[in-house]
Amino acid sequence: MIKTIIFDLGNVLINFKPAEFLMQFTDNIFEINDFVKKVPKSKIWFDLDRGKLTVKEAYEIFLKRYPEKGELLNLFFKENKWMEMLTPIQKNVDILRDLKINGYGLYILSSFIEEAFSYVQSIYEFLSLFDGGVISYQVGTIKPEKTIYRILLQQYNLNPEESLFIDDHKVILKPARQLGMKVIHYQPDTDLREELRKFSVKI
Ligand SMILES: [Mg+2]
Repeated sequence: MIKTIIFDLGNVLINFKPAEFLMQFTDNIFEINDFVKKVPKSKIWFDLDRGKLTVKEAYEIFLKRYPEKGELLNLFFKENKWMEMLTPIQKNVDILRDLKINGYGLYILSSFIEEAFSYVQSIYEFLSLFDGGVISYQVGTIKPEKTIYRILLQQYNLNPEESLFIDDHKVILKPARQLGMKVIHYQPDTDLREELRKFSVKI
């Protein structure tokens, strides 16, 4: 029986769509795709998730490495403009509230940057519905590295057999499954209520 539901944040509860976000600055799709590859999908960004760098430090590294992208980098990073793309996915936030009412233990397992997590915590009260969670920057490891899943299970004494993990990346679900958790691969057109009901979750 499922007692615990574990949520990813990015593109499950909170939008993270850098390409769409960049369209307000340029309509050059090649420029956008190149920027996404070199910035929010780069190793440096993963180091942000790991808490190894501050956003300011990463911004400086990117500027030095890609001077030709200076203008777009400034538009993206200045006053943390990029964090504006971190908007709630309301239909899933509603599900989260219903799961809370129905008595499920709710946890976060997310690769997220410290400054961005502080930002979303300060503006979205739904994050207080969680009973706990592990965010990558706190532990220096990111999904799909198995350690972060183990930390979550151990820290809250969760039984993987009674836990259901929701993430939008298949590769991230694999370690969860290997550790004995049930999983849902969430996509924008997924009916999450229906998927949860397949595991006999009351929703
Ligand atoms: Mg995600």
